[in-house]
Amino acid sequence: MAATRTQDIPATVQQVQLLEKAGASLVRIAVDSIKDVKALIEIRVQTVVPISVDLQENWRLAKLVAPYVDKIRYNPGHLWHHEKQMSTRGKVAFIAEQAEKHGCALRVGVNCGSVDPEVAERYDPSDSISAIVASALEHSEILDKLGFTRYCVSLKDSDPKKVVEANTRFAQLRPEVPLHLGVTEAGLPPKGVNKSRFALGKLLSMGLGETLRISLTVPPELKGMEIEAGSQLIEDVVNGLSLPILESGLNIISCPSCSRVENEAFVELTKWVEENTQFAKEYDVTFAVMGCRVNGPGETDHADIGAWCGKTHVNLKRGHKLIGQFTYEDVRPRIIEEAEKLIELYNKKRNLFTLIL
Ligand code: SF4
Repeated sequence: MAATRTQDIPATVQQVQLLEKAGASLVRIAVDSIKDVKALIEIRVQTVVPISVDLQENWRLAKLVAPYVDKIRYNPGHLWHHEKQMSTRGKVAFIAEQAEKHGCALRVGVNCGSVDPEVAERYDPSDSISAIVASALEHSEILDKLGFTRYCVSLKDSDPKKVVEANTRFAQLRPEVPLHLGVTEAGLPPKGVNKSRFALGKLLSMGLGETLRISLTVPPELKGMEIEAGSQLIEDVVNGLSLPILESGLNIISCPSCSRVENEAFVELTKWVEENTQFAKEYDVTFAVMGCRVNGPGETDHADIGAWCGKTHVNLKRGHKLIGQFTYEDVRPRIIEEAEKLIELYNKKRNLFTLIL
């Protein structure tokens, strides 16, 4: 996926070409506005690799982008934001009609951090896997009933074990639907590569998955690493090489960035968090760093400490609770302070547990 701003046409063309040169057979670009659509049309003219667009809330843009792209990815969890009076089925019918008219494929991209609220409320909050599987099944059924056949489904989570379980469960129920595989917010390399190799390697070895993406938090000029890691994984699975085990302890999840990143300092902040929270490395805690307000608030909700990055400020959270907004500099000591408090609490609970035993 292009990590550059879509409206920065020269940078995005360069990004698409870099990914193609690294071996990508499909490049995804985020489109959120009419201005993005205009830029996309120019990017299409200047590039040759097949292009997929990523629509989040603005599903009506499918009509404008479909003539220029090969695939449209929509997220079932983002359809409810606009035109609330219209049914989900009506919105999917609109997207499918545009895709059909212009020979595009669709990807139903279900993501753990933004599950359709109507589906999520049917399940216990601790059972996120059932919710994402149900959402993927529901949208497959809608497309089937509409007679649209050129679609695939992805069920992504930042937890590699959940990715394995969600995809396995979906494939048992709908074995004929093609799967796009990925661990979302896998984070910085090399740990991000390991998480993806663990989950995607398992699924590929089971014969599941038609396409895949490795998501890494790296700046645009290093995005070729994602393709190299994906190609290496496929080669290793084909050759029967053993795959990594998952490391326990401190887990840092962070988004791979896209056109929606509000401040590129977010990648540096993520690296800084990893380097400066090593005192917590033995503890099973999760820190999340996200690059924008579209997915940032939802996708930091399940972390022990979350930071979603805006243009000038970072929103620091403990679970669902917002601690405050800080500048990119001021947030650093606050993250350490929160991490220390978390570890202290963790130790107290552990000591209490030992005393009771
Ligand atoms: S969190 Fe925002 S910036 Fe990061 S990949 Fe997702 S949409 Fe893009």
